[in-house]
Amino acid sequence: WSKLEKLGIGLLETLEQAGYEAYFVGGYVRDKYLGKPVKDIDIATSARPEEVVRLFARTIPTGLKHGTVTVLAEGETFEVTTFRKESDYADFRRPDEVEFISELEEDLRRRDFTMNAMAMDRHGGIRDPFGGKEDLKAGLLRCVGDPAERFREDALRMLRCVRFASVYDLTVDEATWQAVLERRELLLHVAMERVRVELERMMGGPHPYEGWRLLAESGLLGFTKDKLAWSYSEPSSPSLPAELKTLPALAESDRRWILVVLLSGLNAGQCRELLRKMTFSLKDVERFSRAAEFGEWVTAIEWSPGMSRVCSELENCSAAEVWQLGTLQIGVEAAADWLAVMKALEREGYLVTAGLRLAVDNGQAWLDELRIKELKELAVTGGELIAASGRGAGPWVGAAMSRLLRLAAVGRVANTKAELLEAVLDSGGGA
Ligand code: ATP
Ligand code: MG
Repeated sequence: WSKLEKLGIGLLETLEQAGYEAYFVGGYVRDKYLGKPVKDIDIATSARPEEVVRLFARTIPTGLKHGTVTVLAEGETFEVTTFRKESDYADFRRPDEVEFISELEEDLRRRDFTMNAMAMDRHGGIRDPFGGKEDLKAGLLRCVGDPAERFREDALRMLRCVRFASVYDLTVDEATWQAVLERRELLLHVAMERVRVELERMMGGPHPYEGWRLLAESGLLGFTKDKLAWSYSEPSSPSLPAELKTLPALAESDRRWILVVLLSGLNAGQCRELLRKMTFSLKDVERFSRAAEFGEWVTAIEWSPGMSRVCSELENCSAAEVWQLGTLQIGVEAAADWLAVMKALEREGYLVTAGLRLAVDNGQAWLDELRIKELKELAVTGGELIAASGRGAGPWVGAAMSRLLRLAAVGRVANTKAELLEAVLDSGGGA
């Protein structure tokens, strides 16, 4: 037993010595049985919350109404919840009422899937009235009881179904899957934030492609409140891009989302809207949709070694300069994100289109070559520009400064005060 488990066993002993039943339950028992690392331990007990509070020195009344008390012991926390039954799920999400009960089995019955409805006593003995172990052995994810009823009680369970099937690489039991198809319209009642949390857990797991496959097959996302129209999340859509199989090759979960965004076929504006609906943080929305914007920009260009283009008033830009100026405009992070995703796709055997070849191969070197990336790195300030020009302040200063940034970043002008001032005054910027 780990230190956490030993502490947990101590809690079970305290509860039992006071005359109550107490077990480890839920995710802990499932993960322990599977030999997976244990994150936290939830405890279920026949003791009422007031009694739990009385029995332990340090407690937090986390959710007394629902029977949950957090017990603190040697820097660890345990959620201790009284055996309970739930009734009347009027809002398709949370029970209106909970009733405290004295039997473990009734408490396990309210849980969502058989593998989550097992309990373990302090000797390591498993109580498994609904056949969770057997289902896990067979690689099956199955609801406890009547699946259509369980999804009607709490529609979030349908997304938990997809998440658990994906993360634990399980096949959804036939009747359970039929019930998802039958009940999917109830997803309307689930807050988008909860939807995102489940999707993020799915994406963070080892088999996100399988999760997307289930989402596509069920069309679940199209039934959420905000109708998340990732093009491949609809049953009617042609097919899931095989490139999504690359997701696990990206270690960082933000980059996994960026891959999803880039494969979605949506433009940057549509991505931004979708990500907002999903209640991603502003920072995530910004980062992911910038990457989409960069992807849109970079794929609109036919990259070739001898290319020469006019970009933002600079004549005869080389491929490197085109890339560098685009990066300055859209964002260095966006360019790096796009590159990382393209490299991952390539490593996993997906071909980069001929038009992008040069950019994918050289993008990193071109990024590294940028002399400066931000206005504040310029060797001249707006004030100095005004003084040298003999003109008053005005919108021209900002425009001139951005132009200098571009010139200095690509190395057309050295980043020294004299050269920069000369570049502005020569071009008539100061006239
Ligand atoms: P993880 O923490 O790894 O996501 P978990 O199984 O511990 O998985 P939690 O959300 O922490 O999931 O919930 C703990 C337990 O509570 C579950 O194992 C399950 O028995 C029960 N449970 C949680 N959410 C629901 C739900 N929506 N419907 C029914 N039972 C649930
Ligand atoms: Mg948990």
